[in-house]
Amino acid sequence: MSSRDFVHPCMSCGACCAAFRVAFHWSEADDAPGGTVPVDLTQSLRSHERAMRGTDSAQPHCIALRGTVGEACECSIYELRPSPCRAVQASWEHGSADPHCDRARTRYGLPLLTPADWIA
Ligand code: SF4
Ligand code: SF4
Repeated sequence: MSSRDFVHPCMSCGACCAAFRVAFHWSEADDAPGGTVPVDLTQSLRSHERAMRGTDSAQPHCIALRGTVGEACECSIYELRPSPCRAVQASWEHGSADPHCDRARTRYGLPLLTPADWIA
């Protein structure tokens, strides 16, 4: 595979956006000074928190996720996404496995990423 053919594995996954509750401090929403996350895509959670709509559920699925998990996905607010989303890293992209990535992919029956997935 040449680097020109490399497609980031997240683009055909999206599992972590449909596996966990995505909760963060209310000040990350854009109705607070400096906040970025569109508040209409969030809901109140505990006193100091908001969550991405769709994720505080037994079968989480973030409202901002476009596409089909395991096929083709993208975050519709990628540049504005909250801190928990920025914290998840695709396993082995930076040299180690990420437990959230692994758990999410397992939940959808997707193979865990390996170092070989990053050889371009
Ligand atoms: S971080 Fe992992 S689970 Fe999340 S979209 Fe990327 S490959 Fe999928
Ligand atoms: S905000 Fe974007 S990156 Fe975060 S869970 Fe939703 S779709 Fe995924």
